[in-house]
Amino acid sequence: MTERDSPYLPGLSLPAPARDGVDASFWEGAAEHRLVLQRCRACRRFQMPAEWICHHCHALDLDWQEVEGTGVVHSWMRVHNASHPALADRVPYLVVVVEVTNADNVKLLGNLLGDPSQAVAIGDEVSVAFEDHDDATLIQWRKT
Ligand SMILES: [Zn+2]
Repeated sequence: MTERDSPYLPGLSLPAPARDGVDASFWEGAAEHRLVLQRCRACRRFQMPAEWICHHCHALDLDWQEVEGTGVVHSWMRVHNASHPALADRVPYLVVVVEVTNADNVKLLGNLLGDPSQAVAIGDEVSVAFEDHDDATLIQWRKT
């Protein structure tokens, strides 16, 4: 991740993904509206966050593979308190941890888009939503 000045959070830096690190393929896939996860060529297991070595078998032979972009809510939180005055008009919003379907229990963090007052439960089915910004595409989620 790199940081740049935020146009809507004076005094705070807005994190933005760098496409030159070990997770570059994840962000490049997102920019193409594809959910791409790191996968070990040796043991064929997925892992995220991306690393230079397989968490499972310690092989150094890692690859990237597109997955279907669905999952279930593993955990969630509705944020009501703005952590900065510039966020006062953005609350409430929903943060979810999603267990990606058929990806060896890989979990990704994002926002649940749509009505911030919607009912949410652990186990709810979600699908990926690509949120395009000027310099990055973020992985978000919507209930299915
Ligand atoms: Zn492995």
